[in-house]
Amino acid sequence: MKRLLPLALVPAILAAVLYLSADRPAPAAQGPLPIPDMKFDDVKEIAPGVFFRLSSISAADPKIPFGGSNHTWVVFKDYVVVIDANFPKEAADVVAAIKKTTDKPIRYVLDTHHHGDHAYGNSVWAKEGAKIVAHKNAARLLAVNGPKQWEEATKGKDAREDLKTTTLKQVDIPFDDRYVLDDGTQRVEFLHFGHSHTIGDAVAYLPKHKILCTGDACVNGAYNFMGHSNSASWIRCLNEMHKLDVDVICPGHGKLARKDLLKTEVRYFTELRAAVQAGIDGKKSLEDITAGLNFPWYKEWTGVEVAGPAMNKDSVKHVYNELQGKVDHERLGWAPGPLDAREAVVRRN
Ligand SMILES: [Zn+2]
Repeated sequence: MKRLLPLALVPAILAAVLYLSADRPAPAAQGPLPIPDMKFDDVKEIAPGVFFRLSSISAADPKIPFGGSNHTWVVFKDYVVVIDANFPKEAADVVAAIKKTTDKPIRYVLDTHHHGDHAYGNSVWAKEGAKIVAHKNAARLLAVNGPKQWEEATKGKDAREDLKTTTLKQVDIPFDDRYVLDDGTQRVEFLHFGHSHTIGDAVAYLPKHKILCTGDACVNGAYNFMGHSNSASWIRCLNEMHKLDVDVICPGHGKLARKDLLKTEVRYFTELRAAVQAGIDGKKSLEDITAGLNFPWYKEWTGVEVAGPAMNKDSVKHVYNELQGKVDHERLGWAPGPLDAREAVVRRN
């Protein structure tokens, strides 16, 4: 027996049917995305089709497992886009993690910059069928310096075994200011803001989800390495990134954060530059300036003292040289560089 619907309900039911039958892209989250609590090797879907894997790394604490860089991957209709390539061993771990979340092919991988824990795994991704994308300066650094630095990283007591059994894969798609992937469901914009952590940094912006994957242009904790940076330009770039509509930062190292992490990094670089400048003005030695750094808020952020054992003294030396006009930023990262920081870069950052 048929029952007639109350007339008042018909428009609402029609609207619901139309809504459910429409071919819509993945819905964007309502309100700010949650920030899950994660530990090393955890993978979380932080927005529809967007996965984040938390890594770990420490130069000072050998108990912390080495996982290289963090990773974000975005599942499009027909393929997967991955942020950062990591070292080869860690890249293989991440490929396995991705395959637990989707059976779609990995088509694009962004090297956020040329450092080993963000680019040396390129060949692993290429074997999966992916094209490597990077800013043109990162591509140049990897092409000109990469082979020699790779060779160096296979020698000595800290030699990486995975570099002995793989090869350095160069960038397939170098871009200038931006490179956009958009299939109507997902959109990822690779953007270059200028010289930050390196001269070839690129970030990945996901405007639909208000997510920004920064590589080492923004890290969450005591992970900043400044030896290839332009610290004044870096501050400007972070302030530009802050103008984007962003809820969540996926940093190159350290835990997921809100947008204010960009301003925390700005504060750190600004105060570091000011402290080093004050030391130079007071005719202090680099050693005294370094030992005298004291930002109480830094420990709240990172868990360690700014001038403690975890500090990368090359970063202070770099700023010290920058402020005296002794750094040729155009040459940073090129061999032979003006600073002896290359070995540390290959291993750590
Ligand atoms: Zn780096």
